[in-house]
Amino acid sequence: MSAPEIVPLLIVGGGPAGYTAALYAGRAGLTPICIEGFDSGGQLSRSFLVENFPGVPDGTSGADLSNRIREQAIGFGARVVMDDVVGVDLSRRPFRVVTTSHSYLADAIVVATGSVPRPLGLPREEELIGRGIAYCALCDGAFFAGQEVIVVGGGNAALGESIQMARVASRVTLVHRRSEFRADDVVEVAARAIAGIEILTPHVVEELLADDDGNLCGVRLRNLSTGERCVRETAGLFVAIGHEPATGLFAPYLAISRGHIVTSLTSTETSLEGVFAAGDVADSRYRQAVTAAASGCQAAIDAERWLVTGDWVGASVEPAVPVAARRRGPSVSLLIPEQAAEHSPMTDPVHDPAHDRTSSHP
Ligand SMILES: Cc1cc2nc3c(=O)[nH]c(=O)nc-3n(C[C@H](O)[C@H](O)[C@H](O)COP(=O)(O)OP(=O)(O)OC[C@H]3O[C@@H](n4cnc5c(N)ncnc54)[C@H](O)[C@@H]3O)c2cc1C
Repeated sequence: MSAPEIVPLLIVGGGPAGYTAALYAGRAGLTPICIEGFDSGGQLSRSFLVENFPGVPDGTSGADLSNRIREQAIGFGARVVMDDVVGVDLSRRPFRVVTTSHSYLADAIVVATGSVPRPLGLPREEELIGRGIAYCALCDGAFFAGQEVIVVGGGNAALGESIQMARVASRVTLVHRRSEFRADDVVEVAARAIAGIEILTPHVVEELLADDDGNLCGVRLRNLSTGERCVRETAGLFVAIGHEPATGLFAPYLAISRGHIVTSLTSTETSLEGVFAAGDVADSRYRQAVTAAASGCQAAIDAERWLVTGDWVGASVEPAVPVAARRRGPSVSLLIPEQAAEHSPMTDPVHDPAHDRTSSHP
């Protein structure tokens, strides 16, 4: 391997967060390098139609949207490299970053490696994404207006997705493998109070059924206590069994909370000076293309300021406590319950061993 390349700012991740950070840093004259990963475009590229990104009123494919941000970043001088980071040494500055073909020494790093929704792990699931299988009601719920949908999972996320879908779908069936939910009481009570939500426990989705056009048309369910099987017709299956943030390489160096990189409450600074985090890898709450892009912008600005002025506040794990405590109070918001509640410390999908990973999302 050749000698390391020296760069002021290295961005890891080629989703909306990483490309937007590259755009801003490029425009600021930092000539950043963005290692986009072999899965360039990020999660968004798995979406056939994105209708909720501002400035794109007619919608476009996720791949097209990602590519447009990428091209804009390159237009401002960012170098985008299709490669995977396979090793980092953040124990000293400049930080050392190793990819499959190259190595870099960077004064500052933006981590924008995203997260991946957990899948059910059933045959045909991958090919049915965007054809009936969805992982985010906020993203894809509107495509199922007036139709019957199934939501799978047993935590706050699944119940929240059910409540959200009940506002647009004609009927929601919530399928969970256990008889009890692992959700906050307030969320469970809200879900159970909605007539349009039918709760099926203890059931699992055993098989995904597709029509001749390759769209999801139903699922085969199994009752775990009786063993009985039945087929449910449905146009949409929302898988809500958690997310896996891609923190593995950075976890030994950065504070991680509930699987996500901890950032300052007021900036994208992490617990380690010179390292910034943006997008879903640091966001357990919103997980949208626009919020990822927005935090990519913030990370580039934060990194530029730190490189120029050395100004640093840094992230602390502590602020999470009062925030979580406030959420446990009576003012828990049901406006976006799946998000407000999912991140309650009581329902940490990463650290709670009782988390239901097998009930039916990566
Ligand atoms: C099927 C689906 C549909 C969606 N639809 C919508 C929608 O309609 N609207 C909406 O707003 N949001 C939608 N979302 C959510 C949205 O896609 C995410 O919130 C957004 O993509 C997060 O952006 P990100 O840049 O933080 O991470 P990601 O998009 O996850 O990108 C992470 C990037 O990091 C790279 N990476 C990871 N590890 C490494 C490594 N070791 N080395 C180099 N690179 C690495 C990956 O290759 C990837 O390019 C959808 C998500 C899914 C899964």
